[in-house]
Amino acid sequence: TERIRVGIVGYGNLGRGVETSIGLNPDLELVGVFSRRDPVTVQTAAASTQVFAIAALADFTDKIDVLILCGGSKSDLPEQTPELAARFTVVDSFDTHAKVPEHFAAVDAAAASAGTVAVISTGWDPGLFSLNRLFGEAILPQGNTYTFWGRGLSQGHSDALRRIPGVAGAVQYTLPSESAIERVRAGENPALTTREQHDRECFVVLEDGADADAIREAIVTMPDYFEPYDTTVHFITAEELARDHAGMPHGGFVIRSGETSEGVNQTIEYRLALDSNPEFTSSVLVAYARAAARLAATGATGAFTPFDIAPGLLSPKTPAQLRAELL
Ligand code: NDP
Repeated sequence: TERIRVGIVGYGNLGRGVETSIGLNPDLELVGVFSRRDPVTVQTAAASTQVFAIAALADFTDKIDVLILCGGSKSDLPEQTPELAARFTVVDSFDTHAKVPEHFAAVDAAAASAGTVAVISTGWDPGLFSLNRLFGEAILPQGNTYTFWGRGLSQGHSDALRRIPGVAGAVQYTLPSESAIERVRAGENPALTTREQHDRECFVVLEDGADADAIREAIVTMPDYFEPYDTTVHFITAEELARDHAGMPHGGFVIRSGETSEGVNQTIEYRLALDSNPEFTSSVLVAYARAAARLAATGATGAFTPFDIAPGLLSPKTPAQLRAELL
C-alpha cells in the first residue's frame, strides 16, 4: 500500500518531535518542513529532511496527503489552520480551551468549502485527556471528573519567575497534590478547587549579590501565580539549571469517580508520565494525521475534533487485524 505523505508546517519543539515520530511510523513518509523563516536558517534534526519556505506549499497540493501544523496556539494556528485547510487536509494541536469553539467554526468553514478534512485540538490536553473525560462522563453519569497536571514544566510560571529582579534564571514545575489524588482515588468525591489540586516547585538561579530571602518572599507572595498555592523555592547554580532542568517533562491524571448504585463506587484513572511534552504531543499529532488522511480518502470533509474520530483510524493496522489482535 502507498505511504501517507506528510508535510510539517512550523519547526519548533513540535515540528522537531513530528520529524522524529514519522521515523517510527513506516506507513508515513515525510515530504518536508515548511517554515516562515528563511529555509537555510532552519536546522533540522535529520540532515535528510528538506526545508522549504511556506510559500512553496503552492507546489505541493498533489504531493502531500496531510499537513501537520506545529505552530503556536496563541497567534499561529488561529491564522494558519483555516488558511491551510482551504488547500490541504490538516491536523493541529490547538490548546486554548476557551477558544476551541471559535477555532472549530473558522476551520470548519474553510475545510467544508474546500472539501478537505481538518482535525483540530489533538495532543494530550486537549486531546487524549478530553477523550478520557468524555468516557468517564458517558459511562459514569453520576460522579465527578478530576484533572491533575504534572509533574510538569510550566512555561508561564517559569517566565513569571524570570521577571523578578535579581533572578538570573528559573524553572517552575506544577505538581499534582498527592493528598488530593488519594482522596479522589478513595472514592471520597471531594469538592476541590483547582488550587487545592496542585503545588508549585521553583528552581531559581540568583544574580550576584541578590538577596535570597527577599526573592523567596517575592515568589511565594506573587498574586495569582504563587500566593494561592503551596510553593517551594530551591536556589541552584546556573550549571545545575542547565544540567538538571533542560527537559520538558509533563503529564497528569484524568480520574472519574462515581457510583452506579448506592455505595457502589467505580473509578476510572488515566495517567500520562512524559519525559518530553513536545515529543509526546507530536506522536499524538502523527497518529491523528494518519486518521485525517484516511478520513479524507473516504470523501469526508470539514472540521473534526478527537471526539469525532473513530479510534481504529489512528492505527496503522487494518480493521480486520484490529479485530483479531486487540479485541
Ligand atoms: P514553539 O514555540 O517551539 O514553535 C512554534 C513556532 O515558532 C514554530 O512552528 C516555528 O514556526 C516558530 N519559530 C520561530 N522562530 C523559531 C526558532 N528560532 N526556533 C523554533 N521555532 C521558531 O512551540 P511548540 O512547538 O513548543 O508548541 C506549539 C504549540 O503546541 C503550543 O503553542 C501549544 O499550544 C501546543 N501544544 C498542545 C498540546 C496539547 O496537548 N494539545 C501540548 C503541547 C503543546 P516557523 O518554522 O514557521 O518559524
